[in-house]
Amino acid sequence: MIAVKPAQKLLAELDHRYVWHPFTQMREWLRRDPIIIVDGKGAVLRDAAGREYLDANSSIWTNLHGHAHPKINAALTRQLKKIAHSSALGLASEPASLLAEKLILSVNRPRAGSVPPRPRMARVFFSDNGSTAMEVALKLAYQFAIRSGLSRRPRFLSLDNAYHGDTVGAVSLGHIDLFHRSYSGLLFKSGKVMSPYCYRCPFNRAKPERSDARDSRKCSWECVGEVERKFAARKKKGEPFAAFVFEPLIQGAAGMIPQPSGWLARVAEIARGHGAQLIADEVMTAFGRATVTAPNLLACHQENVHPDFVALAKGLTGGWLPMAATLTKREVFSAFLGGYGEFKTFFHGHSFTGNQLGAAAALASLEILESPASLAARESLAKALREELSTLWTLHHVGDIRQVGLVAGVELVRNWKTREPFPLSEQAGIRVCAAMARRGVLTRPVGNVIVLMPPFCTTPAQAQKIVRVLREAISETL
Ligand code: PMP
Repeated sequence: MIAVKPAQKLLAELDHRYVWHPFTQMREWLRRDPIIIVDGKGAVLRDAAGREYLDANSSIWTNLHGHAHPKINAALTRQLKKIAHSSALGLASEPASLLAEKLILSVNRPRAGSVPPRPRMARVFFSDNGSTAMEVALKLAYQFAIRSGLSRRPRFLSLDNAYHGDTVGAVSLGHIDLFHRSYSGLLFKSGKVMSPYCYRCPFNRAKPERSDARDSRKCSWECVGEVERKFAARKKKGEPFAAFVFEPLIQGAAGMIPQPSGWLARVAEIARGHGAQLIADEVMTAFGRATVTAPNLLACHQENVHPDFVALAKGLTGGWLPMAATLTKREVFSAFLGGYGEFKTFFHGHSFTGNQLGAAAALASLEILESPASLAARESLAKALREELSTLWTLHHVGDIRQVGLVAGVELVRNWKTREPFPLSEQAGIRVCAAMARRGVLTRPVGNVIVLMPPFCTTPAQAQKIVRVLREAISETL
C-alpha cells in the first residue's frame, strides 16, 4: 500500500469540495479518490502518489508529441520573456501573424500528384477551443450564405451522432440525444443524415466478422444515397441546405465512427452539386492524427476534399494551451468588407483571441510535426497499434475494432455474434477504463467504445502495454 501523503489528501479534499468536472456524474466522482496528475513526460503521466500512467487518449485528444516536449517548452519560455498575452482587438502580434501564415501555407500546399486545393484558404480567425472554432465557422457560413444570395434562411446539414462542441451553436449542429436533447429549447434546427457507421448500418447485409466492419461490409453505398436524398428533398422545398458539416475520415465523440474510403469524396461532391458550403470540423482529425502517413495537415485532403471552412483546436498547440483557429477562403472574407457605416464587420471575438503564448506553442508544435523523425514515429506507432489491436478479435465482448491513423475505437458488445450492445446504464466502457487506470493506463470511453489515441511519441512497447492492459481490463470487467 502506498502511504497517502498529506498534500495529496488535501488536494483530493479541495477537488471534492469545490470542483465540478466536465461530462462527469459528480455523485459517483465524489465516492472515489481522484487521480491527481502532477507531472508528465512523453507519453507518461505521474500522479501525486508517484504512480505512473500511460496517457492513452493524449489528455482528451489534445497532446501530439508527448508531455514536456523540450522544443515546445523552450518556445514558451522564450515567448514568456517577451509577453504572455496582448489583445487581438485592435492589435497585431508576432506569433499570431507567423502562425496564421504558417497555417495558410500548409493547408494550401498541394499534395504530391494531386491538383492544388480549391478553394484556397486565405484567412485565419483565432479563438479558444473546438466549440468556438465551430461557432465561428457556422456564423461566418450563415452570414456568407445570406450576403452572397445563396440562401435567405440558411440551414445546415450534419451527420447523425455528430458532436461539434458544447456552445449553443455547436450543440445545434450536434445529434447525440444523450448530450443534446435536454437543450432542444435553446437550439436552432439543423438537418441530420445517417453517418456511415458500417458496424451498425441497417443497409450492411454482412454478418458480424472478426474484422473491421468497413472491410467486410456488404452494401451498395446506401448511406451516400441518403445524403443525396436529404439534399434533394430540401431543394424541392425551395430552401437548399446552405452548408454541410462533417468530421473527415472519422467521427470522434459520435463513437469513433470511421468512414469507408471514398465516402467523404462522394458526399462532398453531392453537397457541392447542391451549392452547399463545406464545413470541416478537424478539431480531432488534423495535424497527422487521422492521416499519419500523409504529410498533410488536414484529414479531408486525404479524400481530395477542399472545404470552405476548417475548424482546428485540440492539437493546434501540441496540446499545451487552449487555442483554436477557423480557416476560410477569400470570398467569405470579402463578404465582410465594407465602409464602417455599412456594419458588415464580423462582430465576434474573444478576450484571448490570438493569444501570444498559444501561438508560440503552435509554431513549435508544427515544426516538430513536419520533422522526418515525427513522421517516422507516427508510422511505426500506427503499425504497432494495428498489430496489437488485432489480437483483441479473440475476445467475445469485442464487437468492432476500428483504427484511422492514430485514432482507434474498440466497441464493446454483449455478444459479438449478434452485435448486441451493453445498455449504457451498465457502464461497460466506464468500468473497463477504470480497470485500465488501476493497471496504469488512462483513457476515457465514448459510451461502449474504448478510445485509444496515444501521443505520437508513444513507443511500440508502450502501445503493446496499452493493448495488453485493455485486454486484461475487458476480461476482468465483462
Ligand atoms: N469538434 C470535435 C470534432 C471535437 O472532438 C470536440 C471536442 N471533443 C469539439 C469540436 C469541441 O472542442 P472543445 O472541447 O475544445 O470545445
